[in-house]
Amino acid sequence: MKRIFLPAIVIMAAVTLHAQTTLDYFLPAGVVYNKDIPTPASYIGHEVGEWHVTHDKLLGYMKLLAEKSDRAVWEEYGKSWEGRPLGNLIISSPANIERIEEIRLEHLKISDPASSSSADLSAMPIIIKLGYGVHGNESSAQNASLISAYYLTAGEGPEIDKILEHAVILIDPALNPDGLQRHSTWVNMYRGMTLTTDPASREFSEAWPGGRTNHYWFDLNRDYIMLQHPESVGRVEAFYRWMPNINTDHHEMGANSSFFFQPGVQTRNNPVVPIENQELTALIGSYHARHLDSIGSLYYTEESFDDFYLGKGSAYPDVHGSIGILFEQAGLKGHMREVPGGVITFPFAIRNQFTVTLSTIEAGLDMRVRLLNMQKNFYQTALREADGSPVRGYVFSIGNDRTAGGKFIENLLRHKIAVYQCGKTISKNGETYSTTDSYFVPAKQKEYRFVRSLFEPVTRFADTVFYDISTWILPMSFNISYAALNNAEASGMAGSQVTEAPFPAGKVTGAEAPYAWLFEWNEYLAPRALYMIQKAGLTARVATKPFRLTENGTARDYTYGTIMVHSPEGAGSNAEIQKIMSQVADECGIEIYGASTGLTSSGIDLGSNELIALTMPSVLMLIDEGISSGEAGEIWHLLDVHYNIPVTMMPASRLASASLSRYNVIIIAGNPGMTPAAVERVREWNRAGGTIIAYKDGNRWVSANKFAEIDFIENAPLPEGSDKRYIDRSKERALHQIPGSIFETRIDLTHPLCYGYSKPLLPVFKSEVTAVRVNGNPYGNPVRHTAAPLLSGYCTPENIERIKNSAFVSVHSSPGRVISIYDDTNFRAIWYGTSRLFVNAVFFGQILRQESRYDQ
Ligand SMILES: [Zn+2]
Repeated sequence: MKRIFLPAIVIMAAVTLHAQTTLDYFLPAGVVYNKDIPTPASYIGHEVGEWHVTHDKLLGYMKLLAEKSDRAVWEEYGKSWEGRPLGNLIISSPANIERIEEIRLEHLKISDPASSSSADLSAMPIIIKLGYGVHGNESSAQNASLISAYYLTAGEGPEIDKILEHAVILIDPALNPDGLQRHSTWVNMYRGMTLTTDPASREFSEAWPGGRTNHYWFDLNRDYIMLQHPESVGRVEAFYRWMPNINTDHHEMGANSSFFFQPGVQTRNNPVVPIENQELTALIGSYHARHLDSIGSLYYTEESFDDFYLGKGSAYPDVHGSIGILFEQAGLKGHMREVPGGVITFPFAIRNQFTVTLSTIEAGLDMRVRLLNMQKNFYQTALREADGSPVRGYVFSIGNDRTAGGKFIENLLRHKIAVYQCGKTISKNGETYSTTDSYFVPAKQKEYRFVRSLFEPVTRFADTVFYDISTWILPMSFNISYAALNNAEASGMAGSQVTEAPFPAGKVTGAEAPYAWLFEWNEYLAPRALYMIQKAGLTARVATKPFRLTENGTARDYTYGTIMVHSPEGAGSNAEIQKIMSQVADECGIEIYGASTGLTSSGIDLGSNELIALTMPSVLMLIDEGISSGEAGEIWHLLDVHYNIPVTMMPASRLASASLSRYNVIIIAGNPGMTPAAVERVREWNRAGGTIIAYKDGNRWVSANKFAEIDFIENAPLPEGSDKRYIDRSKERALHQIPGSIFETRIDLTHPLCYGYSKPLLPVFKSEVTAVRVNGNPYGNPVRHTAAPLLSGYCTPENIERIKNSAFVSVHSSPGRVISIYDDTNFRAIWYGTSRLFVNAVFFGQILRQESRYDQ
């Protein structure tokens, strides 16, 4: 009982404190505020921190300040998936705001080695970008932006005048508006007028999937390299528009912590980023320390978090001549919460976030010329480093998946990486790169360091603990052949510069009134085409064997996975179908050929049983507790955004009353936690012909519930010994993790799950330590790791041993059809190369013949 009474006294004190919270609580003492500038409370209807601000009110307040203050303008840079505007409130002195475009253009000169020598840094304002709450449920961050914006637009006096004269400050009030809206709605709806501090109360634990992620449940703080979401595409574009010198990234961590600011763990920084970045980050850190000391808040640095993965909000700036700073406040996920040692209030968390905003600005002003110089030097030395590298550039071929190739180039261009058409044909490592489908990325360009991180595989690391993934080789994720070139090879490689990503234009060719239409499965959007055709009510068939069609003296070869639609009423009566085909070709960028006959010159004819009629997929994905929202979100995004396939998302708890007969595919991406009766319903459905796709942890579930026999390989043992030091335990545990690495697989090009591929080797991404032995079905392991599988990233020799020759995708010999995908084919929506395996399972799972080991 004693344990309960003691904190209660502290809680009482905190309640009193909370009740008295006013704007003064947050703001520095001794500043006078312009009465013409509205306070946050006058617009949002409550004091900051009393309730969680919703995104609409937050945005409205920023726009109101832009309207009322001659120090501020609002610049929109995009819209979230749910249509919420994203933007920066740009704040500077009225005189600077008058000539803001001139300041911006002048500033951009320093990050361009061609013009930076002539830039006069002494008079130039520093650009400081304040980024709040990329995780929507870390909302002390977004709520602090209200105070920052008010302070900078309403504050008066010499100190603020100095800030406004020498700095342009960009306030990005909510980096993830859709997540913020979900979270604020949640915590506000469970807030009592008398605040509950008990962490067990529902206010503090959001319903699945929570507000951390964006609309498709992606972590936007991992998307800065991938750029698969409108929030990041716009934000990165705005980054290059301003090239800020400091970028803050305000987050929350576990409730039982204090406050963290960078520098993080020194040994885990990415080696492509010059060490000066860390030195200046530490110097800026001394300002945070002093400011947090002054309000009595606890904090720590250097013990955790790192910027090794460059696709985070605090790391992306580091590899672009800027300083990215991660802040982590102990998160309440509510309004007032018991923690060890007392309670913390939401206003307290907001005040910490605002306080380090002030220290960032102060440091930025003091270190202005030094930071501007660092940015200038960063890009000048990048060129010199490139000169010293044996690698002079990278050549890549987009092969016969021109859409994925276009997406890859689009990504490079969004990162301001210079890409050229191949100036000459070259062969390297057994691959020919021709001027028609190949491109060249020279090493010597201002983004040299970033280019290296995207193209250069790494398997040796200074530290073996990773906060995030250990590698992100983009051409591998797109399954694009590429090679590093030396000086002689690179000479003459740069043809004309690519200014726009090339995407294929679709067309319908062949007979005017075809007997049948054919298209191949190699293009990334072929599945979208197939779904459009099925949705239009036409029957499509898939070729399980190749054939050659010769018409008018021209032979065309069609391989595994070719889709055929025939005209049931014969040639000449198909204007309607021809119209549909032309829409499909147009939208999907594919070539559809109209054949005038079903008789081929070799291989199967068009009426062959080897062209199997397909049923339109009707997909049910289980969601809710037990399922990884990240992985389910990747699947939803893939099927919905890329392929326009609707997905029914159902919690397992509803299975008992749902009719399963309308679905032919059920996706299980985790442990859905079903009742035994629901398991039996799924089993019945599976035996009646439905396809189960088990994804990652879903394989543990199908194995435990005897839908498939899966032989998991035991984890690698930890280092032996009984007298180990307690202090080393977490490092030793991390030793055998696979933090996200790239491995090589060999695929069976004749297998329906591998239709569309043309090369037998396929790079895959693994973020799990799980490894699985190939199963007893002789045709059931179409994708398996090679004997020397590690391509890039961290992996211990023990794990390489476990992974070599193991299965990546399996089809099981069970009464029902179960396809196992053991790792991340859809990782962060950037793995265009392997998401095809997933979508093949959706479309072609139904044609897999059940090879029972008992009936051979
Ligand atoms: Zn966060």
